[in-house]
Amino acid sequence: QAFSDLQLSRPLLRACSAVGYTQPTPIQAACIPVALMGRDISGSAVTGSGKTAAFALPILERLLFRNRRVAAIYALILTPTRELAVQVHSMVQRLAQYTDIRTALVVGGLSQQIQASTLRSQPEIVVATPGRLIDHVRNTQSVGLEDIQMLVLDEADRLLDMGFSEEVAEIIRMAPRSRQTMLFSATMTEEVAQLQSLSLNKPVRLAA
Ligand code: AMP
Repeated sequence: QAFSDLQLSRPLLRACSAVGYTQPTPIQAACIPVALMGRDISGSAVTGSGKTAAFALPILERLLFRNRRVAAIYALILTPTRELAVQVHSMVQRLAQYTDIRTALVVGGLSQQIQASTLRSQPEIVVATPGRLIDHVRNTQSVGLEDIQMLVLDEADRLLDMGFSEEVAEIIRMAPRSRQTMLFSATMTEEVAQLQSLSLNKPVRLAA
């Protein structure tokens, strides 16, 4: 199978070749068509499987075809650590390089003022760690979550291990119920199952 079989637009196919992706990985081949249909996804996938592009490409594709530009965040990607957020954000930027889609990175250890002004510049995609995002929602009022159309919980097992279950639950409550949610986890625990039932609506289950 080729990326060109996956119903992705030309700017995204160009970006895939620019970053050296010739063939989709199994999780990408499975996830991208399902995500483009708007279904919720529960993905069992580890780092190295290509899961980042598996959720990033459908987000970018749906953003290219949205009806209008809105001021609020369209897609939110939550990751357990600053390092992973930085990596995911850089991957999203590379895949978005031939589009006008704006992205923002929201993690601890960066200036809160600078991040607040980045958030006010109306990025469509935000990659964040939960704690710092909640800080901005509560304290700087630079960002609202009420218009999120797509939510990704990346490395859900680690999000919970890092102690973010309260923050993640709060973010899920703030996002609209009509959103599309994709949850990825390397391991399946009782806690991950609870988070799945809190966040997902009739998910398609995929394994890498
Ligand atoms: P991930 O699991 O998303 O962290 O990706 C692991 C590594 O595989 C990263 O270095 C990606 O850039 C790379 N990668 C992801 N998808 C592909 C692909 N379709 N072809 C080649 N490399 C890929």
